[in-house]
Amino acid sequence: MAKSKTPDLMEKIVSLCKRRGFIFQSSEIYGGLNSCWDYGPLGVELKRNVKAAWWNDVVRNREDIVGLDSSILMHPKVWEASGHVDSFSDPMVDCKSCKKRFRFDDLEENVCPNCGGELTEPRQFNMMFKTFMGPVEDDSSVVYMRPETAQGIFVNFLNVQASMRMKLPFGIAQIGKSFRNEITPGNFIFRTREFEQMEIEYFVEPGTDEQWYETWIKERFDWYLRYGVRAEKLRLEAHGEEDLAHYAKACTDIEYAFPFGWKELEGIANRTDYDLRQHTRSSGKRLEYFNDQTHEKVVPFVIEPSGGVDRAVLVFLVDAFDEETVRGETRVVLRLHPKLAPIKAAIFPLVKRDGMPEKARRIVETLQPHFAVFYDEGGSVGRRYRRMDEAGTPFGITVDSETLENDTVTVRDRDTMEQVRVKIAELREHLAERMEGWTRDDK
Ligand SMILES: [Zn+2]
Repeated sequence: MAKSKTPDLMEKIVSLCKRRGFIFQSSEIYGGLNSCWDYGPLGVELKRNVKAAWWNDVVRNREDIVGLDSSILMHPKVWEASGHVDSFSDPMVDCKSCKKRFRFDDLEENVCPNCGGELTEPRQFNMMFKTFMGPVEDDSSVVYMRPETAQGIFVNFLNVQASMRMKLPFGIAQIGKSFRNEITPGNFIFRTREFEQMEIEYFVEPGTDEQWYETWIKERFDWYLRYGVRAEKLRLEAHGEEDLAHYAKACTDIEYAFPFGWKELEGIANRTDYDLRQHTRSSGKRLEYFNDQTHEKVVPFVIEPSGGVDRAVLVFLVDAFDEETVRGETRVVLRLHPKLAPIKAAIFPLVKRDGMPEKARRIVETLQPHFAVFYDEGGSVGRRYRRMDEAGTPFGITVDSETLENDTVTVRDRDTMEQVRVKIAELREHLAERMEGWTRDDK
């Protein structure tokens, strides 16, 4: 089967996302809002599955990490202590002719890339979204929409440690929305001003931080492989000292080969004891850990694996997207890992008569408590299969005339298009086993 990956791969993915209900432009009927996107019926399922996979792997299946859901609005002092008020900014220039705005460090020349016009001197532009709390809009009521979920974790360090009696090393994990007023968002859901993060702050004894840093880099790299991302599309990129954020001692990015180049998918940073010390200084509360073996107080170091949910969704979509020619026609298929697929099985009556729809409905009712399933009786069965291929649905189950005789159905495999006959009574177990044992064989 011939494969063709053309340069307009992103356009194809954006178009498929709209056509199949994964992702829509925000406020589309009003012309859209720049870089804001809405997750449609299939997109929200995919995104929830990505978050659930992460949460299960880093929180539920480990004893050393617990979860948190902190608020988006926080005390303004948090962002002074964290350094965001002073240094969370990008140098920005404006074109004096066409008035477009650019990030200074994105430019290769000192003229406008749009019109060749003269640029202003670079100015620091703070990327935090500012708003006002309460009815009065003055300096005393300024609050920020959080630019990262991490600070909600640091300020809860004592609450979580004490209430859960956590011992070093331990982590606190959080999934939630963050906001950054990026000068140049773009590339679909890759860089947006409103986005969702999945972050772990992993607290360790000082001196063990470098070893834990390496452990987490490997752990997080392997996580993407586990959910089907092709190894040759992933790489690690360590930051040079000049690229480190103000709080970090070391940082490594997991990068993916997007159609628009190698870009960061997740960063693993050694944040040292910077944040806990800053908040101790600023709040007057000692954010320390008492080691009951050595009877010493320490300020833990922190390793932070920080991933973008939307970026992960984009990686899974891009990586799963495949086109092949089948009997002279192009078949588009999303080879999503079954755990991430929005719908696990679609159930089709071959025709809308002879009791087949009723039989198919009963299968839907049997499987529904266990898997996300979808009933479809519209159009030829071939078209129904193709729609589900584009949705990334691993299995197509068809009720036909033989079903009425012996209570078996055909189960069609999304990846190979091969069909097997399975007894309805054994369907649930059959699907569960195949989902568990799934590997991507076109790698
Ligand atoms: Zn210009």
